[in-house]
Amino acid sequence: MIQPVTIKNKPSVFSSHEFAAVVVNSLSGEKSLVSLSNFKMGDVLTVFFAGNTFYVPNYLTIQIDTNTHISLSPEFLQYTNHSCNPNVFFDTNSMQLIALKEISAKDQLCFFYPSTELDMAQPFECRCGSNNCLHTIRGALHVPIDLLLKYKLTDFVQREIGKKSIS
Ligand SMILES: [Zn+2]
Repeated sequence: MIQPVTIKNKPSVFSSHEFAAVVVNSLSGEKSLVSLSNFKMGDVLTVFFAGNTFYVPNYLTIQIDTNTHISLSPEFLQYTNHSCNPNVFFDTNSMQLIALKEISAKDQLCFFYPSTELDMAQPFECRCGSNNCLHTIRGALHVPIDLLLKYKLTDFVQREIGKKSIS
């Protein structure tokens, strides 16, 4: 008997790590990071380090100060995509990746790019599908303050936003 052929868009595992796997979408080729464990709100998924330090941002860096942008180590963390409804937060003070809500194994791990980035090197159109999707993601300086304050932000971004609202 011949089975009907179904074309499935099943993500395949690109690389597997302690608490998360990088999966690749077979149609788009886009990679994302998927949790392998359950976490509670406030849990530390991992610590991270600066791989390299840059004066100007690029699409893989995270901002830690005015002219300081780091690439992430462990490197697979670079596949943490953006969502306007994030479940993790890169705390650039403690250098910990923190769960913002309950996370189940197989959930995609996403952070809110403007929580670390003031002004992004490569703005993009978000298609996260959240009710509260901000659509164009360009960094914290481009998000209305009332929306921005609904998110957990790095101390650096909070400081910069404070300066902006005073001036
Ligand atoms: Zn969105």
